[in-house]
Amino acid sequence: MNPGMENNFVVANTERYRALVPDGVELVAVSKFHPAEAILEAYGAGQRRFGESRVQELLAKEEVLPKDIEWHFIGHLQTNKVRQIIGRTALIESVDSERLLRLIDSESKKAGVVTRVLMQLHVAKEETKFGMTPEEMLAFFSEGRYRTLEATHICGLMGMASNTDDTERVRRDFADIAGCFRKIRETATDLVGFDHLSMGMSGDWQIAVSEGSNMVRIGTAIFGSRY
Ligand SMILES: *Cc1c(COP(=O)(O)O)cnc(C)c1O
Repeated sequence: MNPGMENNFVVANTERYRALVPDGVELVAVSKFHPAEAILEAYGAGQRRFGESRVQELLAKEEVLPKDIEWHFIGHLQTNKVRQIIGRTALIESVDSERLLRLIDSESKKAGVVTRVLMQLHVAKEETKFGMTPEEMLAFFSEGRYRTLEATHICGLMGMASNTDDTERVRRDFADIAGCFRKIRETATDLVGFDHLSMGMSGDWQIAVSEGSNMVRIGTAIFGSRY
């Protein structure tokens, strides 16, 4: 494919997904490993919310791309990279431990900003995926440990289903994540603005939405495969 054709492909897919995703569900276009030019094509089709999984890559793109882009960080965030990313994201979706959360909080306070985050829940069968278990997550919220945060706003949960063709397993994983999300909202009644449930990717977003997702992270279906 020549570059022009590839651009048309990104524009067409962005338009398609912006129309497909139901009202009330936010579309995050996952642009990791794709060049800034591809992001500009999606931007031209009206997309403003993009997801990146590596700190260096996000910062490099942020520097050269329009300032009204909302950057979502969706990868595993190493503690030694936290300081660099504070103040540069609209949402860090992948806070996978309380230790990381506390570090984001202290660095945000130092920088004089409030960082919006999602806590990442691990329900998938793969050990390789990051996140707190439902037990750890529920304990964190029912014990009110979020109350000591000074510069971090927990806006909801992010989770991934098992990587499998077994759609019933995928549905069950999303139902488990949604169940945990609802339980937190019922028990932690003083939590304000805890309303984002980010689940669903290119291959499983429809199942995720039917289980209550209100934020989907679509990469391959918009930008093509990553090499
Ligand atoms: C890469 C990635 C996505 C996008 O996956 P696709 O299958 O390409 O849509 C979504 N969420 C996370 C956390 C990712 O790392």
